[in-house]
Amino acid sequence: MKKCSPSDAPVLSIIVPCYNEEEIIEWSANTLSDFLNSLKKEALINIESYLCFVDDGSKDKTYETLNKLRIDNQYLRIIKLSRNFGHQAAILAGLKYAKKKCDCAITIDADLQDDHTTIKSMIGKFNSGAEIVYGIRNIRTSDSNFKRITARIFYKIMEFLGAKTIKDHADYRLLSQRAIKFLLKHKEVNIFIRGLVPEIGLKTDMVYYERSIRTAGETKYPLKKMFAFAIEGITSFSVKPLRLVTFLGIIIILLSLVVAIYILVSFLLGAIIVGWTSTIISIWFLGGVQLLSIGIIGEYIGKIYKESKERPIFLIEEIIQ
Ligand code: UDP
Ligand code: MG
Repeated sequence: MKKCSPSDAPVLSIIVPCYNEEEIIEWSANTLSDFLNSLKKEALINIESYLCFVDDGSKDKTYETLNKLRIDNQYLRIIKLSRNFGHQAAILAGLKYAKKKCDCAITIDADLQDDHTTIKSMIGKFNSGAEIVYGIRNIRTSDSNFKRITARIFYKIMEFLGAKTIKDHADYRLLSQRAIKFLLKHKEVNIFIRGLVPEIGLKTDMVYYERSIRTAGETKYPLKKMFAFAIEGITSFSVKPLRLVTFLGIIIILLSLVVAIYILVSFLLGAIIVGWTSTIISIWFLGGVQLLSIGIIGEYIGKIYKESKERPIFLIEEIIQ
């Protein structure tokens, strides 16, 4: 692979999306800078390695704080998006910036819940030829029971629907320059990066770590966003729900045939069916099934609508390097 720099150690770009992280951003930038320093001392990374904080339209003091830190921090680069585009878009903005400016990039959340010291093993795997290294949580004790259970259901559904996802992997990963280029060739507007990366191919590896709890600030992924994200993931990678609708239709038609025969036989035998209960039940049941089916089809049509507009995924207001 062609290197960004002639020296042996790779130029590493650490990409950190941040949205309203004023409570934590200084600690996060300092911790990562200290860590880059130690990697440099061990000659594991090139001196040109850097941190790329992507401010995703924060409404608090995140951007101002980053700008202040920048004065004394040689590693820090800042990309400011023009508004809040969402976590996935912020990661993509960082990767697009890093595409020609690193040998490998690691994306990590600003709260550093994902153990940043694992970066060292990620680089080790990269040096042994892996172009994609997934960070996998080996236990999920730091998550609430609710998050753990919903995550498990999500992975099961994804598996059932045949979409490729890496279990217990979020967006903490290393990508080689080539993997970044391949990822950015995917032009879709509906982005679910952790589903796209396994589509790239190339040599992959994994590292395991324990995820800690958030030390300050609060989650930017409340239930509503998590649910939307899961639907996004499922509908971006599988058309099976549409097929399920068709099957459901076939099954209901067959069932109604059976019911029709039963009614006909009862009629011929002279049993007068009052039938109110069965009528009401079938109306409600079929109504529900139809609405659900239309909803699923609508999800996909909505996606086609969004894709056809080809709106930009993010807009960069400023880059400070
Ligand atoms: N984030 C972002 N844009 C958003 C929401 C979140 O850039 O619209 C960032 C956030 O600052 C953090 C990362 O995405 O660095 C993950 O968010 P969070 O830690 O709140 O999610 P959780 O760990 O609770 O799933
Ligand atoms: Mg977090």
